[in-house]
Order: sequence, then structure tokens, then C-alpha cells
Amino acid sequence: MSTKGKVTGIVSNLVTVQVDGPVAENELCYIDLKGTKLLAEVIKVTGDKASVQVFESTRSLKGGDSVEFLGRMLEVSLGPGLLSSVYDGLQNDLTTMSDVFLKRGEYTDPLDHTKLWDFVPEAAAGDKVVAADWLGEVKEGWLPHKIMVPFSFKGSYTVKSIVPAGQYNIDTVVAVLTGEDGEDVNVTMVQKWPVKVAIKGYKEKPRPQKIMETGVRVIDTFNPIAEGGTGFIPGPFGCGKTVLQHAIAKQGEADVIVMAACGERANEVVEIFTEFPELIDPHTGRHLMERTTIICNTSNMPVAAREASVYTAMTICEYYRAMGLRCLLLADSTSRWAQALREMSNRMEELPGADAFPVDLSAIISNFYARAGMVVLNNGKTGAVTFIGTVSPAGGNLKEPVTESTKKAARCFYALEQNRADQKRYPAVNPIDSYSKYLEYPEIAEFLDSKIEKGWVEKVNKAKFIVRKGKEMNDQINILGDDGVPMSYHEAFWKSELVDFAFLQQDAFDAIDALCPLERQKFMLNLIMDICDRSFEFEDYEQCRSYFKQVINVLRQMNYSEFESDNFNGYYNQLLKLLEK
Ligand code: ADP
Ligand code: MG
Repeated sequence: MSTKGKVTGIVSNLVTVQVDGPVAENELCYIDLKGTKLLAEVIKVTGDKASVQVFESTRSLKGGDSVEFLGRMLEVSLGPGLLSSVYDGLQNDLTTMSDVFLKRGEYTDPLDHTKLWDFVPEAAAGDKVVAADWLGEVKEGWLPHKIMVPFSFKGSYTVKSIVPAGQYNIDTVVAVLTGEDGEDVNVTMVQKWPVKVAIKGYKEKPRPQKIMETGVRVIDTFNPIAEGGTGFIPGPFGCGKTVLQHAIAKQGEADVIVMAACGERANEVVEIFTEFPELIDPHTGRHLMERTTIICNTSNMPVAAREASVYTAMTICEYYRAMGLRCLLLADSTSRWAQALREMSNRMEELPGADAFPVDLSAIISNFYARAGMVVLNNGKTGAVTFIGTVSPAGGNLKEPVTESTKKAARCFYALEQNRADQKRYPAVNPIDSYSKYLEYPEIAEFLDSKIEKGWVEKVNKAKFIVRKGKEMNDQINILGDDGVPMSYHEAFWKSELVDFAFLQQDAFDAIDALCPLERQKFMLNLIMDICDRSFEFEDYEQCRSYFKQVINVLRQMNYSEFESDNFNGYYNQLLKLLEK
């Protein structure tokens, strides 16, 4: 018998329910609104009263309306067919919708039950297996999609039977497993998992060992993100958060991409819808969408659905990670998620924390970021979830609670700056305040030593120092005037401009400059550092300025030319002549 209840109070999407039996936190329920079933989630239970947040509009809901508890949490369906899909936070399929918005009480099936998949068994009768072990494989696009022992299975099982290679739909029983108690259980290609619970099913979660190449120089060279690492991009509106995230999505070294779009406005989400499917994967020349899942929510959708979307996205990533794939989770923007938390906690009249966000905001954000990571699976193979979220602090104030809390949780910080964006210095990542804690990891330094060259981190720190020093010199020049400072100040300033213009700035819309592989980043940084190591004897600051402008110009032309092409080499020779002077 399931627990039932009656509506006793309604504050927007927060509904209080008098219950006639036990209910659990995060349990789902249906509220019956004249035959339409509204889905809701329990967020608080006190005695025989439950507070539930409704995932939809509660318009015309009345006290006394009946409620039925489902005895399960918000779950996501996991199986082949997730890629190329566009869902909302409750995993309703939005690709089949003519409109972004579903009617109230309407829920769609996330996976296609008729489509046939080419299944190849990887386990055999008699094999001992545990949760998350691989039983077989289907090809999803060109990616191997493992059919696994469901994550919810406890203890060990023996494979009783497994179907031969062939075409099956996701509901076919592909394997029968016998538990330790002698009971047989059927396994299909689809399983469910509660979104707020991290998927385990791996042996260990070691520290990251390598970086995830993104082709963006400010990231890979200056502040690299680890595979299985975490990072965030705070920045005021219009500074390039979305452009930077899309560049990472397109170019990042990952097998699977999940985009959680908690849109600022409905039209931004519609843009993702229309633009993302057009994007071409520069690594394979195929549509990026083939290995992407998009989870969309706009801020005019009810808060609870927005809150669910980041969890749904993370759960899908964890599912693919368990197959030994490298997953990249991008959330734009996590501030909308935090605002959803704030709205709910305010309606519950909880004691508010800073800026009226819930007191446990920091813990919620940390727990979420902690779900990312590189893991070693039971079979010794590895998988990773790399997570990068954007934060849109009101008025660009980096001291607000969401930015501060995220700073504690994420290991890379890419601060976008209004000032740089105004000067069209893109990507507008502040080169001085931004950081990657991975540069301090000995494993990562070792990786860079062998992947790029010995002493790479030292070189990067030297380049950062040049940028920092240049800024100080510029401040001095601004105060004392061009003639009031020694020539060395001008030289130091222009060396920092050289690093900035020729290396840090990168045009995300140029076919060649947008993607800069590590090999090329190494070549350019070495070239630039070689120039910075020289000391020049300029007669006056005008000469210094015009000389560096020429050098910068040629280096930028190189960035816009195919690496090592005739064009590129032509500019390179031009640069060598300039340097001889
Ligand atoms: P946000 O998401 O922070 O509001 P967007 O990502 O939409 O900002 O960027 C705003 C605009 O800034 C873009 O439309 C583009 O014109 C410019 N821009 C941002 N980053 C770059 C870049 N790397 N290269 C060229 N233009 C950029
Ligand atoms: Mg944006």
C-alpha cells in the first residue's frame, strides 16, 4: 500500500501535504489536479506533514486535492539512445516536442523502445559479476556503449544465460543473473538510477593523472584542467562564458559531452537547441551532437525542474564513465541552479544564509563537484567525468556566495573580466587572478614534462610572471608618464603585451585560431619566451613600442595560419628577420 495524502497549503511550487503513512525525503509523489498528475518531490518531512516541491505550475491547485506517494526517488533512465537527445531536467524528451514547453502533467519517454541495437556479448554463462560489470556492448553512433550489471544490484551474481550477438531493443532481456540467494534476475539494456545519488561501481578514485586538452591556450598552457578535474568560469553577462564553454565542448578531449543549460533566458536555451546540432566536431568531422546529450531548462520553468537538471546531467555522465569513457559535463549557468535552491529555501521559510541562499549552499555545491573525477573501474580500465560550470555573479561581484562557494569546490578558476571583454581581449580570462591547482600536482607536472617538455610548469610560471610584472609596469607608466620611467619599464610592459596578444588572446570564431593543439602551444610559447628572454637596447619608448607592435603583428598572423604551412613559415621567417635587428 502506498502512502496517500491531502494538500493543506500552497506557496507557489511549495505544497504542504498531510500524509497518512511514512514518506521519505526526496521521494516522489503525484498530486492529482482534476485528473492531471503533477509530479513533485518531498523536500522535508515533519511528523505527518510533508513539504513537496512541484516540478510544474501549481495554478488552480486547491487544499484537499489528493496526493499519492510513489515510494521512489527522482530517477533517470540509462541506456543506449541517451546521446543526441535533448531532455529537460526530468528527462522529458524535448526533440520530439514542437515547443520547448510540455503541457502540464505530460511526461515523455526518454528512450526509444523500438529501435534495435547490435548487441555483442562480453560475458559468458558461469561468469561471476557484480554491479557495473560489463555484460556486453552495443554501438551508439561509433562509441562503444557497455550494457552493465545494474548499479543497484548488491552482492555478487553468476551469469546464468546471455543472448547471442544480434539485434535487440532496449527492453529485451539480454542476460539472466543468479544471485547469492539462488534467485534469478533479468537484465535489459535499460536501468534506472536516482539522480541525487552518485553512481559508485568503481574500484577507486585516484588523483587526476593527466590534463584534458581543450585547444584553448589560456586553459591548456596557463591553467590546465585535469581529465576528471573540476573548473568554473565566473563572469558578468556578455564576457564570453558561453563562447568559452562551447569551445571546450567542441574541442575538449572527451568521448561524451553533456551540456546542462540552465538558461538565463528562454531564447538562450532555444539557441543551444538550434546551434548545437549544427556544430561539427573538429576531431572527427562528424556532428558533435552524435556524442552529446543536452539537458535544457529555462528560468521560466519551475524551480524544482531547474534544480533537477544538473543532477540528471551528472548522473548521465557517471553512467558513461562506468563504461570507461571520458565524459565532459558543462553547466551554464550554475547560478541559476543556486537561485532555484534559494527560491525553495525561502519558501520553506528556512533560516537564510548569505544573500538569502540556503545555509548549506557551500555543502550542496561541494558535494556536486565531488561527483566529478577520474575512476579506476572494477576491470582496471579508467573513466572520467570532467566538470566545468559557469557562474554569473550579479554585477560581476566575485565575492557573492555562489562564486565563493564554487571557488572552494572547483580546482580551476577562469575569471572572465568585464575590462578585458570591453577591450575585445578574448577569451577575457583574467591571466593574473585565474588559476589551476592542478599545476601544483606532482603527477600533472610529470605528465606535462613527458607530454610537452621537461620543466614546462616552470616555463609557464615564468610567462605568468611576465604578465604580472607587465601590469605593474603599466600602472607605473600611467602614473609617472611615458618619460618618467626607465626604458626597462616600457620593455617589460611590451613583453607582457606580447604574451597577451600573441598567446593568451585567441579568436573562438576563426577556423584555425579557435583550436590550438598542445604541440602548437608549445612551439608558440617557446618562441615567445625566447623573445622575452632577450634584452633590447631601444633608443626611446616610441621605438620600443613600434618594434613590439611589429613582432606582435607577425606572431598573430602566425596564429591565424595553418601550423607549419608555407604561410606560417613565411611569417616565421619574417619574425626571425625582425629579431635579428
Ligand atoms: P556570456 O555567456 O558570458 O553572457 P557570451 O559567451 O555569449 O557571453 O559572449 C558574448 C560575446 O563576446 C560573443 O557573442 C562574442 O562576440 C564575444 N566573444 C566571447 N568570447 C570570444 C572569443 N574567444 N573570441 C571572439 N569573440 C568572443
Ligand atoms: Mg551565456
